Amino acid sequence: MIITHYLPQPCPACGKIGEYGNINVSGNVLNRGCNACGNWERIPLPQLKKTIIYLDQFFLSNAFRKRRKEFVTAADRIKDLASKQLVVSPWSSIHELETHLWPNPAREDLLMFIKQSARGHRYSTPHCIKSKQIQRAFDAFLERKKTDKLIESHDAFQHNIHSWDDYVWIDVGKFIDDVDYVGEEKRLAVESLVDLFDEWGESKTTFEEDVIEEVNGYAKSLMEVYRDSCKAFVQGSIIEYLSAPADARLIDILMCRDSNTLNYRERLKRINLFLHSEYFREIPYVDISCRLFAILRKRVKEGQFPNRERAKMKLSGVFYDVEAISIYAPYSDAIFIDRAMHQWLKQEGSDLCNKYSFRIFSALNWEEFYSYLDGIEKNCPEEIQDMLPLVYPD
Ligand SMILES: [Zn+2]
Repeated sequence: MIITHYLPQPCPACGKIGEYGNINVSGNVLNRGCNACGNWERIPLPQLKKTIIYLDQFFLSNAFRKRRKEFVTAADRIKDLASKQLVVSPWSSIHELETHLWPNPAREDLLMFIKQSARGHRYSTPHCIKSKQIQRAFDAFLERKKTDKLIESHDAFQHNIHSWDDYVWIDVGKFIDDVDYVGEEKRLAVESLVDLFDEWGESKTTFEEDVIEEVNGYAKSLMEVYRDSCKAFVQGSIIEYLSAPADARLIDILMCRDSNTLNYRERLKRINLFLHSEYFREIPYVDISCRLFAILRKRVKEGQFPNRERAKMKLSGVFYDVEAISIYAPYSDAIFIDRAMHQWLKQEGSDLCNKYSFRIFSALNWEEFYSYLDGIEKNCPEEIQDMLPLVYPD
């Protein structure tokens, strides 16, 4: 057997010293063994309830570059709490993508830093989470039954996030293949977004009307990408079909439902009704992202971003920020985001943090963040504190 940590005490079975130690941690069990006699012990560990904190790219890259003291202090604090099994800050494919788009030769090191900070834990991909939420909402729509079960913690993590960390973690391969393509797509998306500002500035709609308009716009885009991918498939362009935006698959999944009993038109009609129903509007990621964009509309109406070129610069990361918050915040206890997004979230008309139970931190409230972290440590159950030196003797 492979002993990872040799212990100074003798093996309880054969009494030999220097052959006995911790092997690994698996499924809330500490495995110990002895190389001399083959003795194997399974020590059950208490159940954990880690605080899940989403750290955005801005936080992580500042901590990595040791740019500002506040970031480094907070990152060290989180690292310590993570080693005490109290906090986990998983990484995501959005971190990976943003890191690859970072025009700096140190990006591979940054990505490794991000994965190490997460101790290998990661969120499921946005597509995977969207697809779970949309299917649950569709089920509720078909049954005409409201559900508060659209968010299930296990949807966002492939493994039990509340388990004791093992001594080693395996680095999974990359999610993103064509980074240049994605980067260019996002740049064009920001340009198109800013092009809408004149129209938004003159519109007299209310905040809630803007939310509905955003939801309808998203519903329309889902159907468009779906139709485009179908067309590509019918015309025999498999490459184009396969490279269709992941959102096209969301409709695809719903179209597969009842394909034995309903014809194509009936299924399509049913999906259209769903996309314009309350069930669709209340999907967490749809609700959050559309509200965030409605806040942006409000800010434009109030006269912000008068210089369109500067707006494009300022908003260059807006789609990543909105995506990360709308997808991951409901599965996290707290998020650390940039100052601007924090201000957006504090805007009137958006009570998203109460609705989805997450705390917001940014460079606007360092002190609150530090005391939040202190509170986590203070509330560490004794049984966990007692076990830590046994599991992690170093
Ligand atoms: Zn032994």
